[in-house]
Amino acid sequence: MNWKLDATGQELLRRAESIAEKVVAPAAAETDKSARFPTDAIAALRSAGLLGLLSSKEHGGQGQSLRTAVAVVERLARECPSTAMVVTMHYCAAKVIDKFGRDIHCRAIATEGKLGTLAFSEAGSRSHFWIPVSTAEKIAQGIKLNAEKQLITSCEHADFYVWSSRPVQKDGLSTIWVVPRDADGLTITAVYDGLGLRGNGSSSLRARNVVIPETNRLGEDGQGFDIMVNEVLPCFNLLSASTSLGMMEGVVAHAVRHVSSARYAHDGTSLADLPQVRAHVAKMRIKTDLLRGLLQDALDALEQQREEAPLRVLQAKAAGAELSLEVHDLAMRVCGGAAFRKDLPVERFFRDSRAANVMAPVTDALYDMIGKSICGLPVF
Ligand SMILES: Cc1cc2nc3c(=O)[nH]c(=O)nc-3n(C[C@H](O)[C@H](O)[C@H](O)COP(=O)(O)OP(=O)(O)OC[C@H]3O[C@@H](n4cnc5c(N)ncnc54)[C@H](O)[C@@H]3O)c2cc1C
Repeated sequence: MNWKLDATGQELLRRAESIAEKVVAPAAAETDKSARFPTDAIAALRSAGLLGLLSSKEHGGQGQSLRTAVAVVERLARECPSTAMVVTMHYCAAKVIDKFGRDIHCRAIATEGKLGTLAFSEAGSRSHFWIPVSTAEKIAQGIKLNAEKQLITSCEHADFYVWSSRPVQKDGLSTIWVVPRDADGLTITAVYDGLGLRGNGSSSLRARNVVIPETNRLGEDGQGFDIMVNEVLPCFNLLSASTSLGMMEGVVAHAVRHVSSARYAHDGTSLADLPQVRAHVAKMRIKTDLLRGLLQDALDALEQQREEAPLRVLQAKAAGAELSLEVHDLAMRVCGGAAFRKDLPVERFFRDSRAANVMAPVTDALYDMIGKSICGLPVF
């Protein structure tokens, strides 16, 4: 796939490809079956320097752009969407820390390969992550956090969380912090046993009087919304779209292999000899290539600072989530009973593909935002 990467980006993608083939793919079925966090894959990515991909060279990272992260995540998602989503959340967290964090936190990611994630979603604000209800209070020892977070990818396995709360005292919707996983007062309240992305470890997390240093604040008090929209949203939306794209590539490959090899005994013809099946395969390919084109253009628009870049960022995630549902439905259809009774990994991809639509910003909210943007109304 031509993602127009520079020489370093190509080398990093080659490393990711090797890990995808040798470590991620062989473990993918078991990762799903037993809802097991992909520890070996993350360790391999760490050893290959891929967890520091978006971290700046100044902090010891690879200093790569979102384009390379998109390529890496897409490649991982073709084998194991759970692993791709863990990496997506890590890159989002790493990007915010690299821009706003203290040197010690930046280096922990860039050189030590610590794993991060976003802890934005809450039981109270649900998918409306931009208006958290959890609190941050200034006390003599630092900042005291209280929260009920939900569906936090890598919850038990991350070394730190990029965390949202209401502002301490300034106006604004939120403030962002870095919170170490081993902070006193953090408890996992519900272990993730999901329909799809089962290896994600997306558990619920409670903070009861967790105290962190005030210097763990990322950006200014009350600046959270700006950070979410300007830093996190482009990164998360495009990486979510690349996860959708990778899944689509994966499922198309499995479906084509099946329809080309499954035969009728009476005349030896394959499923691919049926014109209806070929038409469905053609639709799967077209939808996958449509998303790839949109994602490429979103990357170009961001890099060239084109006017439509914010619109492309919203479109890419919505299109990824919806087109992915359509492609996975078609894959289940053409693979018939073999997919239904789990002879093929198609059913696993089908379940994984359901998540993108309900991951915030949820697709229905994105449609509203895109509609507002097209009609010249304020998006937020
Ligand atoms: C596998 C997985 C991993 C996740 N990982 C993380 C993570 O690492 N960090 C994190 O912070 N969060 C994470 N999340 C949480 C995710 O981002 C959402 O917050 C969560 O899935 C929303 O669920 P909800 O039921 O609370 O949504 P609700 O807010 O209850 O939304 C339910 C439905 O209501 C409709 N709806 C809601 N809002 C709007 C709107 N504004 N306009 C139109 N329709 C709307 C949509 O149809 C939506 O699907 C993860 C979720 C999943 C499934």
